[in-house]
Amino acid sequence: MPKQARLNGIKAFKSYTIEEAAAVSGVSPRTIRNWASDGLRVMDGARPTLIRGDDLRDYIKSQRAKRAVKTRIDTFYCVCCRKERRAAEGMADCDVIEGRAKLTALCEACGTVLSKPVAETRLPEIARTLDLKITRYDETLR
Ligand SMILES: [Zn+2]
Repeated sequence: MPKQARLNGIKAFKSYTIEEAAAVSGVSPRTIRNWASDGLRVMDGARPTLIRGDDLRDYIKSQRAKRAVKTRIDTFYCVCCRKERRAAEGMADCDVIEGRAKLTALCEACGTVLSKPVAETRLPEIARTLDLKITRYDETLR
């Protein structure tokens, strides 16, 4: 898994050299150069190469958006298949603790354990397509 680039320290109106851009976003200068050949905008004609903060931010955000896989409420992202998958046999376990629910199921394709957090309020909706076995943990019983 590549290291997650940081957005927080990048100032939109500042220009960064390759080294500064690398330091502020928490990646290596080599990574910044790869990004520059992959579509990250650099400032025309500047020597050394300068990158605008807002261009750097936009690039990192667009890379994140590409990576994020949206799953439907009743499906899971399988890290093994690297795809959205349904629960095997339409069954999922659901642990509910203080209004937060965690679904656990097996990947329909490869059997890997899948899990994801969902809001408890969405359980009725999920229960329409998944056979849920709900276990409630009450904080006061501990
Ligand atoms: Zn799978």
